Amino acid sequence: IPAIDFSEFRKDFPVLHQEVNGKPLVYLDNAASSQMPESVAQRINDYHRNEHANVHRGIHTLSQKATDAFEETRKKVRDFINADSENEIVYTTGTTDSINLVANSYGLSVLKEGDEIILSEMEHHANIVPWQMIAERTGAVIKVIPVTDSGDLDMQAYESLLGERTKIVAVVHVSNALGTVNPVKEITALAHEHDAVVLIDGAQSVPHQPIDVQDIDCDFFAFSAHKMCGPTGFGILYGKMNLLEEMPPYRGGGDMIDKVSFEETTYNVPPFRFEAGTPPIAACIGLGSAIDYLNHIGMDRIANREQELVNHAVSELNKIEGLRFIGNSDRRASVCSFVIDGIHATDIGTILDKQGIAVRTGHHCAQPILRRYNVPSTARASISFYNNEDDIDRLIDGIRYAKSFFE
Ligand code: PMP
Repeated sequence: IPAIDFSEFRKDFPVLHQEVNGKPLVYLDNAASSQMPESVAQRINDYHRNEHANVHRGIHTLSQKATDAFEETRKKVRDFINADSENEIVYTTGTTDSINLVANSYGLSVLKEGDEIILSEMEHHANIVPWQMIAERTGAVIKVIPVTDSGDLDMQAYESLLGERTKIVAVVHVSNALGTVNPVKEITALAHEHDAVVLIDGAQSVPHQPIDVQDIDCDFFAFSAHKMCGPTGFGILYGKMNLLEEMPPYRGGGDMIDKVSFEETTYNVPPFRFEAGTPPIAACIGLGSAIDYLNHIGMDRIANREQELVNHAVSELNKIEGLRFIGNSDRRASVCSFVIDGIHATDIGTILDKQGIAVRTGHHCAQPILRRYNVPSTARASISFYNNEDDIDRLIDGIRYAKSFFE
């Protein structure tokens, strides 16, 4: 891929060009939420100012215009993740909502007492709790793939967990707590040998690398707009059509029906069957615009640039005495999670913030994996393509300052 000057893209993000606590902002909390380029903010604003109307309901021109823009996003998402059809793209309010949909619709209709759901030890709570709730209702059992010291899935242990009773495997693509990139294609192939259905939590992979759901061959794939230069309150569930067609609705209301009477209601076809009520239209159109923006840079280029930045961060962080990575896989994307001897992660975060540097501290909604490493919290710097080497160097200086403060 031809090289490109990434400093140009930084100009597209107004939020990055401000001072925080008297210092130029360094934003390294992209795994929580990425920033929004001007073009996406403008597109959303445009919709509110000039095109706002409800979708799928009106014969009038404005409603049709809103519906066209709303449905256009479905095609953009289809192409972005290489789904077979736009009808396999279900609109949700985010990754959490997407996983709850699969757990409540597919999970509840398929799982019987003693059936098994396989998760991994590095899951976000969003890919644990919905399954626990469904397991409680159905009598299904949750099995957990352990994680190695380096932060990789123990694939041998995974194979030994798979069996006749395995019905669902739900695994994160890129861990938000460790940064590990999991071998989702291999995970899926192994699950399919046992006729289990696979859900991939793509919240942290979609923003950072090209995604091809047909190549992965997963059955479901979930992600959020706000981590990929889009707005909050919107997300996607990809599902293979043969599964979506068999799945009962999750929520009832307008738009998801075919015919309604008090005696009997029949349901709309996928994806509409799963989209009850007025959706977040502006956010949906915003995601379409975010995809245009990412495509204009190119996801291959983004992946390469972020790998350069992550490698720089890892090698500089490694030079800091007393710093220990939590998760140190060779296959890492975006996230550097670490602890420092003698300093609480919250203190690191607070001292960095005083210097205008935004990182996340805490358990990152992944308590089980932090427990695995015997730490209550970590500091997490997460990178996006609009970061640069200066941002990383400011982080390193900031950490050194925090250390000197405590020594
Ligand atoms: N899974 C992972 C791996 C995540 O990082 C996140 C967001 N932190 C989620 C799920 C939940 O995403 P959302 O809050 O957008 O629903």
